[in-house]
Amino acid sequence: MNKSSKSTRRDFIKKNSLLGAGAVLGLGSAGKVFASYSSEGSTPAILGGKPAITSHSWPGWPIWKPETDEKRLMEVIRSGVWSRRNVVSEFEEKWAKVIGSKRCLSVVNGTNALNASLAQLEIGWGDEVLVTPYTFIASVSGIVFNGAIPVFVDVDPETFQMDPDKIEEKITPRTRAIIPVHILGLPCDIEKIMSIAKKHDLLVVEDACQAWLAEVNHKKVGTFGNAGCFSFQNSKNLPMGEGGAIVSDDDEFMDRCYSFHNYGNPFGTTAGTFGAGTVRIGTKLRITEYQAAIGLAQMERLEEQTEARNVNAAYLKSLIQEIPGIIPYKLYPNVTRAAFHLFPFRYKKEEFSGMPRDKFIKAVNAEGLHCSHGYNIGVNKMPFIKNAFESKYFKKFYAKEQLNYDKYTRENECPVNDTLGTEEAVWIGQEVLLGAKQDFDNIAQAIEKVQKNADLINRKS
Ligand SMILES: *Cc1c(COP(=O)(O)O)cnc(C)c1O
Repeated sequence: MNKSSKSTRRDFIKKNSLLGAGAVLGLGSAGKVFASYSSEGSTPAILGGKPAITSHSWPGWPIWKPETDEKRLMEVIRSGVWSRRNVVSEFEEKWAKVIGSKRCLSVVNGTNALNASLAQLEIGWGDEVLVTPYTFIASVSGIVFNGAIPVFVDVDPETFQMDPDKIEEKITPRTRAIIPVHILGLPCDIEKIMSIAKKHDLLVVEDACQAWLAEVNHKKVGTFGNAGCFSFQNSKNLPMGEGGAIVSDDDEFMDRCYSFHNYGNPFGTTAGTFGAGTVRIGTKLRITEYQAAIGLAQMERLEEQTEARNVNAAYLKSLIQEIPGIIPYKLYPNVTRAAFHLFPFRYKKEEFSGMPRDKFIKAVNAEGLHCSHGYNIGVNKMPFIKNAFESKYFKKFYAKEQLNYDKYTRENECPVNDTLGTEEAVWIGQEVLLGAKQDFDNIAQAIEKVQKNADLINRKS
């Protein structure tokens, strides 16, 4: 018998109601949550029992509503004006307004929003850039793409974010910038990071590619640094297939970004402008009018969806934090809103009869959820950095000592992140948070059922 199986259902229900789970959604009785379910004697789905979640009301992704979404899109398609023009500009103006930024430039994706921002802030050869290892590859690839060297700051496992207390020890005379990533859509401690950046005269490019409408002290993330970058890829909370944006209050920087995204032609030039004279090194990162029309339709519901994700995440958190071995995310005290691209929690196998995380995920998914282990390899451990160090260009530019990969690896170890990524983190997708109260009750029941039967599952599956 493991320790947790001694805690009764009554305890669980009581703790929930004391914590105010009912209050969040105005429920009369938290006791109802588990009324239809008894974990004792209920066979886990992975061992042939009935799943805890037999139906759910969360949507598939992306959402598309023909009645509201298609009018504008069809107008654009029928007009034949498909390359960048008014609809793209309208999308940019609206996004800048929603975010609270002076300017916005749309680009082909979040990856290139980051690449372009670094390039236009002239962060590159010879520079070091501080970044978290707990992120999507694109937060880091742009650093190397621009010729700089990423330096990894370990994470705070409670928040899943870059640990601000570990930043200063990583600063050297070569450090030029920090890329704070608001990973999973939970804001990082951006106020603290900004004050460190100010103290050491560092540039800041926020990777807000998972954090649309998230706020710290009522200010939207992406508006704290020199630049903020967003992604509108298909899986993101504001999906348009592919797409991205750079926001900033700095006019000169934004003019340079515009020029860069349009072959290096002067700011304000559009498709079909000839003979303007190319003034800068540029490339082409423009989105189409029909992408912008899709983005405008999606933007209409983002506010309401974000609100729902916040309310529902708080409710789900209040339920599952009572289950032994489940530790949900923590938000920094200055966070006034999160985006919840993902709902993360930590899994402690000690409370699950030593069952490895992947077996836990399989068992929970058999109950009818779809959760995953997320980023299981830290970006600091990926071979592309070694590959860059061995390239002709890096060898030309950097001293041999700086490209000593063994030394680099040792200096960039992030042990907290390793444990988080390989053993502890579990993610639930953002669309689940658009479900109804019954869905979260069922999810909590599914996880609790796996916990109560952990010993059996671990031996038999
Ligand atoms: C999605 C994402 C990106 C890249 O965005 P794309 O539009 O896919 O290129 C960058 N950083 C993070 C944290 C992301 O989640």
